[in-house]
Amino acid sequence: MNQQPFDPAQRITDSGRQPEDASEQSLRPLVLADFIGQQKLRENLAVFIEAARGRDEAMDHVLFYGPPGLGKTTLAQIVARELGVGFRATSGPVITRAGDLAALLTNLQPRDVLFIDEIHRLSPAVEEVLYPAMEDFQLDLIIGEGPAARSVRIDLPRFTLVGATTRLGLITTPLRERFGIPLRLNFYEPRELDLIVRRGARVVGLDLDHSGAMEIARRSRGTPRVAGRLLRRVRDFANVAKVKVVDQRAADEMLKRLDVDDLGLDAMDRRYLRLIADHYGGGPVGVETLAAALSEQRDTIEDAIEPYLIQQGLLQRSPRGRMLTITGYRHLGLTPPRNQAQLDLLTAPSSEVADE
Ligand code: ADP
Repeated sequence: MNQQPFDPAQRITDSGRQPEDASEQSLRPLVLADFIGQQKLRENLAVFIEAARGRDEAMDHVLFYGPPGLGKTTLAQIVARELGVGFRATSGPVITRAGDLAALLTNLQPRDVLFIDEIHRLSPAVEEVLYPAMEDFQLDLIIGEGPAARSVRIDLPRFTLVGATTRLGLITTPLRERFGIPLRLNFYEPRELDLIVRRGARVVGLDLDHSGAMEIARRSRGTPRVAGRLLRRVRDFANVAKVKVVDQRAADEMLKRLDVDDLGLDAMDRRYLRLIADHYGGGPVGVETLAAALSEQRDTIEDAIEPYLIQQGLLQRSPRGRMLTITGYRHLGLTPPRNQAQLDLLTAPSSEVADE
């Protein structure tokens, strides 16, 4: 088995942000009406936005959660735009001291949106400052040190905090409870990704026919960010090979060259699945063991690799660890085990905790 550490920057279907994704900006929908998919979430959000606008008040705090690349940042920007207010963005790991957060909060205008990405990574000291700010729009600051230290209370403008996280389970309960509007993003359906791919093709100037667009959509791991990235690579191939119109056959050939298989799995996904099949008899095996064997961060495995494999029914998460399903074996071209105990486990209802 290849034990080389895996470099996520080389993974075309990684749903996390990569430097080249700066060009994503041009693909970002700017208003709710242009945002494709997540229909229920979109309908609810439209109501909350309209209500807040009607009352001329700050909207309640919103928490978007779900795997990377599904549109959390995009939606946060849309919320601010639709509310007609200012937008400030930061992220959990960037705010290292309580003072950093205080500076951000005191600079907000009434009703502004403050977006905190990766909000599960805020330090406890910073979270403490955030609680009264979210609840009472007040900031409690300690000024000075030692016996001369005193606490001052500053009134803040009413603002909307929009938090985003890939790991709802890692958010502390007090923080989670302060969000009036928690909204979950799900993987996209191929027909929704098809619309996103076709819109993207127009933006990047690629001539794709219907079958070509659908092929890219089907193989985008249910994730708009991946769809955008595959689209840009296909455009590169098409430009170099002077392919005028990309149809299903051309798209299939190009995606195969990118090592993206029929379900949209890349080499890393397949390595992960094969590891469970070949070395752990199909599981159950703990995520720490898998992380060590793949030289990969546990977070990356849980955030970026597993959710899609679970959604596709290739993998199951049980209290005893990860297990390959019969579909998972078949996808790898392997014969599922005949061992009865394992079959029982595989056919038992999944005890997966949906949000973790
Ligand atoms: P997240 O914050 O969840 O990681 P982003 O909001 O940064 O994801 O979205 C990643 C990219 O995917 C964006 O640049 C945008 O172009 C695209 N995108 C996301 N959701 C949609 C959508 N519903 N329709 C069209 N494009 C989308």
